[in-house]
Amino acid sequence: MNCKYYILSIIVCCFFSCKTTTNLGQEVTITKTPKNVILLISDGTGLSQITSAFYFKKKIPNYNRFKHIGLIKTASSREDITDSAAGATAFASGVKTYNGAIGVANDSTNVLNLIEIANLNNIKSGLVATSSITHATPASFFAHTFNRGSEEAIALQLTTSNVDFFAGGGLKYFNARNDHKNLVNLLKDKHFTIDTTSLSSYPKIKDNKKMGFLLAREAMPTIEKGRGNFLSDATELAIQFLSQNNQNFFIMSEGSQIDWGGHSNNSSYVISELNDFDDVIGIALDYAEKAGNTLVIVTSDHETGGFTLAAKKKKRDDGAEYSDYSEISPTFSTGGHSATLIPVFAYGPGAEEFSGVYENNEIFWKILKVTNWKSK
Ligand code: MG
Ligand code: MG
Ligand code: ZN
Repeated sequence: MNCKYYILSIIVCCFFSCKTTTNLGQEVTITKTPKNVILLISDGTGLSQITSAFYFKKKIPNYNRFKHIGLIKTASSREDITDSAAGATAFASGVKTYNGAIGVANDSTNVLNLIEIANLNNIKSGLVATSSITHATPASFFAHTFNRGSEEAIALQLTTSNVDFFAGGGLKYFNARNDHKNLVNLLKDKHFTIDTTSLSSYPKIKDNKKMGFLLAREAMPTIEKGRGNFLSDATELAIQFLSQNNQNFFIMSEGSQIDWGGHSNNSSYVISELNDFDDVIGIALDYAEKAGNTLVIVTSDHETGGFTLAAKKKKRDDGAEYSDYSEISPTFSTGGHSATLIPVFAYGPGAEEFSGVYENNEIFWKILKVTNWKSK
């Protein structure tokens, strides 16, 4: 080859992809443009919740593995403090909307979401949550409604959505409805295989066209009540199912209940759910490190509880109170959400785009920018 063309071809090759060798000695092709996106949302998680993994998890948290970190401002269009619906709609559709709104803009018009955009770009999509699959966060990725409370209406919209894989709770919104429709049958008519008993293994589901798991009447159980590895296993199953035949995919997986631990000011609930979510980060990063073509983004919609890793308050012999810096005593300042900035962690092609301080809806625009997914 002519030397000039040889150099040019090396430059072109490095622009689109580069080969590197991992710690395990495997050769990985690192692409410049992510082929796949995994968005992990821990509902109600601020910096103190994340920090709790560094003190209370028995091994080094997977949060420790990121180099690209940013902060988002989470206010909704009408309120300083967002709820999960407006927060997730900002991520899913790139707009600031009002609290309670799912997939609609501030003027109540429908906005395109990442799953609809993925479908436009011939990309498979999956949703996993430890709440009902019709709850505000996952719903914002497939539904459009003025009111997050209308979970039966949201369930009906799942049957006409472009989702290829889902796993979570919420069976009653599909099979015990006020309108007596059986949406489980409707989903089967739409090429879904629906399992309402347990997560199955990849070999058992790989030949199904679409796959849905509805494994609780309402929310999935808490970690403390025996949910086990559902969130990690379902996220891994989604990756396996959607990456078949070298397909591109988008997955949103949510640790839904960190928020609920915050609302109930229950620190062991918060910490156990956060540790579980950290395991899911490990699943996503392990895949992304091997694949070389997958962008992983980890963030939250808002903080819940005003959670603080305070020092334990103790009393001296004379009755005077003091803070014992040798012992952490998690405390809360509110039963609701707070307005604190929220961390964003990113890994993979395009990860550097997620550094800096910016508005929550920018996450959506950054995903479109780095993937080149077209939104019309
Ligand atoms: Mg929330
Ligand atoms: Mg949520
Ligand atoms: Zn909440």
